[in-house]
Amino acid sequence: MIDSHSHIYCSDFDNDRDLVIERAKQAAVRHIVLPNENLESITQVMALHRAHPTYTSVALGLHPEDVDGDFMQQLTAMRPLLNEHNPVAVGEIGIDLYWDTTWREQQMQALDIQLHWCKELQLPFIMHCRNALDEILSVMDNFGETLPQGVFHSFTGTVQEVEAVRKRGDFYFGVNGIVTFKKSNVKEILPVVGLDRLLLETDSPYLAPVPNRGKRNESANIPHIARFVAQQLGKDFDEVSTATDNNSITLFRLKIT
Ligand SMILES: [Zn+2]
Repeated sequence: MIDSHSHIYCSDFDNDRDLVIERAKQAAVRHIVLPNENLESITQVMALHRAHPTYTSVALGLHPEDVDGDFMQQLTAMRPLLNEHNPVAVGEIGIDLYWDTTWREQQMQALDIQLHWCKELQLPFIMHCRNALDEILSVMDNFGETLPQGVFHSFTGTVQEVEAVRKRGDFYFGVNGIVTFKKSNVKEILPVVGLDRLLLETDSPYLAPVPNRGKRNESANIPHIARFVAQQLGKDFDEVSTATDNNSITLFRLKIT
């Protein structure tokens, strides 16, 4: 299995990061994609990637919650680092209006610029969308037919929202521990998304799946998510892990053995 979205480079893991990687390997997690958040976190992302160059891949971008008044300076400083570090995606990018709508316009501009990076570098995007699907779709609509491929990570929208996204392109959807939560409706979108467009992710350190809900999340929890998805879709565990692995490998052009 592949964890397509994990922040195990962050300080929550400073005391036991090597053990976390070891547990992921023991849980049959073959590879971990590390999406960046801001200019500062690139140092931590790259340090972890250099320590585990074949086991991890990096995505570089400015997270919507890190967009504020100086986002243009951040983007200008970040852009050359994408040429330098060979990321597998631009991410995570997107719009988040859940806690704060102050920087709505700036978040839309930052998303527009970073989707252009995807085009320039021929990379997919990793999209973070929280209370902001209309804004994201309106930015995407500026691109018409030339939209890059990508994944809507931690997607918690409705079936209608999956369909609205799909009007713009044949995108992937990332599913994490939220799908296992009793009150979550994410299980309803699984058959609509279908195994051929589903990615597994943890979003560590957040959103640990049942039975580890509430604890710090880590990549070794991927099998819990895979098992739950398999039950919901009436498929074998192996079919889900193989299909979702292939989706990550295709989208991010991963070279893993
Ligand atoms: Zn994330």
